[in-house]
Amino acid sequence: MALIVQKYGGTSVGTPERIKNVAQRVAKFKMLGHQVVVVVSAMSGETNRLVALAKEVQPNPDLREMDVLLSTGEQVTIALLSMALMELGLKARSYTGAQVKIVTDSAFSKARILDIEERNMRADLDAGHVVVVAGFQGVDEKGNITTLGRGGSDTTGVALAAALKADECQIYTDVDGVYTTDPRVVPEARRLKTVTFEEMLEMASLGSKVLQIRSVEFAGKYKVKLRVLSSFDDEGEGTLITFEEEDRMEQAIISGIAFNRDEAKITVLGVPDRPGIAYQILGPVGDANIDVDMIIQNVGADGTTDFTFTVHRNEYKKALEVLKGVQAHIGAREITGDDRIAKVSVVGVGMRSHAGIASTMFRTLAEEGINIQMISTSEIKISVVINEKYMELAVRVLHKAFGLEEA
Ligand code: ADP
Ligand code: ASP
Ligand code: MG
Repeated sequence: MALIVQKYGGTSVGTPERIKNVAQRVAKFKMLGHQVVVVVSAMSGETNRLVALAKEVQPNPDLREMDVLLSTGEQVTIALLSMALMELGLKARSYTGAQVKIVTDSAFSKARILDIEERNMRADLDAGHVVVVAGFQGVDEKGNITTLGRGGSDTTGVALAAALKADECQIYTDVDGVYTTDPRVVPEARRLKTVTFEEMLEMASLGSKVLQIRSVEFAGKYKVKLRVLSSFDDEGEGTLITFEEEDRMEQAIISGIAFNRDEAKITVLGVPDRPGIAYQILGPVGDANIDVDMIIQNVGADGTTDFTFTVHRNEYKKALEVLKGVQAHIGAREITGDDRIAKVSVVGVGMRSHAGIASTMFRTLAEEGINIQMISTSEIKISVVINEKYMELAVRVLHKAFGLEEA
């Protein structure tokens, strides 16, 4: 007998029919003698619908109330799935985050899980129930409802698996695993049998939304056996996230290509080229609680230099305002920005032992006439910022150049 945590995303529970299908799959695992905890998302489109509803009433919604609102989506699905399980003759009990007691900090809309009480779930499992838990939500120490950020049900799934020391955490979604890149953008993308935890972490943080980044962090920290699978196929082993590089079956140098349109670029032109300037620019940005991602500073000429960095697109306007406020103090000639950019990244642990990845990447983009605006690298990834309108083209040509398509 194993203890398995299964998480089903929005599309997988998008209609009553699909909820019944999920119940069938859960029943199969129950029949094999396993204990099952199921985490579900809101029905597809529901969270977006609620966000839009809030904005009609309060254009810049209060975050505490937003979490009260958004958590209702998942509450609907846990009840419906529990009913569907009962219809199949199984014992089932639903839990909201607060009922489990998934304790989080109080950072509404992006709360972090601090602790999970397993007592109630354990008792139900031992009594033969399927435990059905609402994803994406928790409760802070004062009893306020919190949510974990978009895509947060993945994190609920992995965190429950860690807390219950489950044998496996299965993330069921609308694709049958982790692909070399988003199969919606590149139809030739290939499913990976395995991907290392490190690579998955990079891919998630660079924009591959198949797993929320915090779920991957959790899996790494607590060594959760994590697998991504299709909720629509009956067979298939999906993608296993592995901890050892040797476990990688495919020894490709590049494992995947990630991309996102979530960033915007800000350039501070003509600042004095002297010690402390980076601090004078980025200090106020940090004080305003704005995260900075990529940074470049030009080599100075004539005693001045240019400084460029990226922030999340949602914080672009705020960052520009902050800098305009200190422009005179910094002595900058001009502050400009661009929010029509995209970041495209190639990821792979094989990069550690292979040279020439960067040159292949840059040549491929040059051949398509795509201008690179910024570059950043780590041991296992190279990212470039380009004009947003070339993003999909860049992903497609890089996917081909690195030989990632279906054999
Ligand atoms: P769920 O609602 O099940 O959580 P998501 O929409 O959050 O599903 O995540 C699944 C989607 O992630 C897929 O439909 C796919 O378009 C997208 N995706 C992005 N990058 C990848 C990738 N490398 N591999 C697989 N899917 C990816
Ligand atoms: N329903 C939430 C969202 O749409 C959480 C999730 O699905 O993981 O972001
Ligand atoms: Mg998701």
